[in-house]
Amino acid sequence: MKNLLNFIKPGVLSGDKLKKIFYLIKKYNICLIAINCVDTNTINSILESARIYKTIIIIQFSYSGSCFFIKSNFNKFSMLKSSILGSISAAKYIHEASLFYKVPVILHTDHCTKDNLKWIDGLLEYNRDYYNSYGKNLFTSHMIDLSNCSLKENLEISCYYLNKFSKFNITLEIELGCTGGEEDGIDNSKISTNRLYTNPKDILYTYNKLIKINSNFLIAASFGNTHGVYRPGNVILYPKILYNAQKLIKKYNNFINEKNPLSFVFHGGSGTDFKIIKESINYGVVKINLDTDIQWNYWLGILNYYKNNRYYLQSQLGNPKGNYSPNKKFYDSRIWVNKGQINVIKYISNILDILKCKNLLN
Ligand SMILES: [Zn+2]
Repeated sequence: MKNLLNFIKPGVLSGDKLKKIFYLIKKYNICLIAINCVDTNTINSILESARIYKTIIIIQFSYSGSCFFIKSNFNKFSMLKSSILGSISAAKYIHEASLFYKVPVILHTDHCTKDNLKWIDGLLEYNRDYYNSYGKNLFTSHMIDLSNCSLKENLEISCYYLNKFSKFNITLEIELGCTGGEEDGIDNSKISTNRLYTNPKDILYTYNKLIKINSNFLIAASFGNTHGVYRPGNVILYPKILYNAQKLIKKYNNFINEKNPLSFVFHGGSGTDFKIIKESINYGVVKINLDTDIQWNYWLGILNYYKNNRYYLQSQLGNPKGNYSPNKKFYDSRIWVNKGQINVIKYISNILDILKCKNLLN
């Protein structure tokens, strides 16, 4: 959809811009990809992809991904401090780098469970001063994942945060039902299958509660979604759940004439059949999370580099050119990290083609 989002300026987005973006991409049946980053190498390949393909990509950090950003070896006791400082450092880097690359970025934090709410509290506290100094937010949006709580508790806490966010126009993402599999220390691989499918009535109930506060929210409603990539047939997705929820919302709030009033998030997008992805976009998915496939493609670029240059990568000196021939040019991390980055950019290009979201910006 050429130039659809031309009104968006480079830098980290905040406030009402996000609502307008989601409204437009729903209208034109496209969706943005969200990628989990853990270091500046992954961030740079996302920013470079956004620059080359003239699009907006959501960059997100998990709790443990934020810890890793600032500290490679962390123990359980220092995780909270590391997660807050890691997120702040990553966000500040992206605020600067996105201007250098001249790309707009939606900056988001992924799954925050009930045990880790202090992470978001710490970020909000920091944001208050940041906002007062710079007139903009550090993060565009945060996800609170209370899918392991009762619906009542999930909504009580979610409403509390949406209220808190409203002062700064920060968007909230919440989860209904559960995403299966395992990702970044959140293990739902053994939960019962029916918890992977959200009841559309629960989605309606949630929508009606949150909309009373404001409309700056996204819902990750499960329709069989699973983190990770598994053998074909292991994960059965029913995107019709999303369609049924939109229908209920429109029926209950008969003043709405939008095709998809609610904005959904698709978790566990890696390894999914593109027909299913396209069907879910048709029912209002605006954000699809890709983590595992990015990890794999990053690694694959490095693996192929190793395979092609293995005789130059066994010792500092000595290769087919001679026993004392130096290998510095081969094991320099700038060389092989870049191979991973190039492969990630190639993978993102394919996905953006399939989702038809290249050239959204001028
Ligand atoms: Zn997820």
